[in-house]
Amino acid sequence: MQISEELRRRFADAERVLVLTGAGVSAESGVPTFRGGGNTAVWKGMRFDVISSAEMVARDLPAVWEWFDHRRNFMDSILPNPAHYEIARWQERFPQLTLATQNIDGLHQKAGSREVIELHGNATYAACLDCRRRYELEWVREIFAVDERLALCTGCGGMIKTATISFGQSMPEAEMQRAQEVTLAADLFIVLGSSLVVYPAAGFPIMAKRNGSRLAIVNREPTEQDELADIVINAEIGATMSRAVGVN
Ligand code: NAD
Ligand code: ZN
Repeated sequence: MQISEELRRRFADAERVLVLTGAGVSAESGVPTFRGGGNTAVWKGMRFDVISSAEMVARDLPAVWEWFDHRRNFMDSILPNPAHYEIARWQERFPQLTLATQNIDGLHQKAGSREVIELHGNATYAACLDCRRRYELEWVREIFAVDERLALCTGCGGMIKTATISFGQSMPEAEMQRAQEVTLAADLFIVLGSSLVVYPAAGFPIMAKRNGSRLAIVNREPTEQDELADIVINAEIGATMSRAVGVN
């Protein structure tokens, strides 16, 4: 493994690795986290998970539209940071490494990671709330521009919002299933930049550990599961990743 020298040394024999990332990995790309300082993940006084919720779509369409537009511009402007690229390189080197993320920013894919398990969806496009059909934000925008109407699903007539899993929405089944399979197969589970308070995502490291996997946590501040971990590195993601020079 090539993570930090420390992780590399300790877990050189790991084969089936699951990496779970959280908002801390994208913090150095300028994406605000919910927790752990610099908490600016609020838009016009509303938390991101409120403004992007199904309930808001029903209650205040113009606000949701403004949010779509703001989000689209923001999503276009952000770039992966060295940590995203480093994680993508691990996947190149270790065919049995799977990446699952709680992030909704698409930055892992922009950096080259493949088959990313997106536990909380993706904010760079939209989806029907009923049938999950995908729509581009640009299309939603164009429809709205005509008469301030939010586009409805052309397949089932359902409401459309960013393809994120907001609080109150059910988790994506296929992703949860895959994450569970990989968790149960893992011999090393690495958490990067997550406070591990959001469930069910935070349940995966616990499941892995119970199943005999080792657990490594890299985060700026303590997490809920530090006591379970075989190693905890309290550090900045950027520093941890850039220290990681040289591969086995
Ligand atoms: P979180 O905000 O709860 O925790 C992030 C953790 O990262 C904190 O403990 C913080 O101390 C740590 N951190 C911040 N910057 C760091 C850095 N540079 N180096 C090391 N650690 C750093 O995030 P979470 O655990 O991912 O859960 C929050 C929920 O919010 C998730 O459901 C996620 O979908 C969503 N979210 C996503 C994004 C995104 O897509 N980038 C951003 C904010 C929130
Ligand atoms: Zn639909």
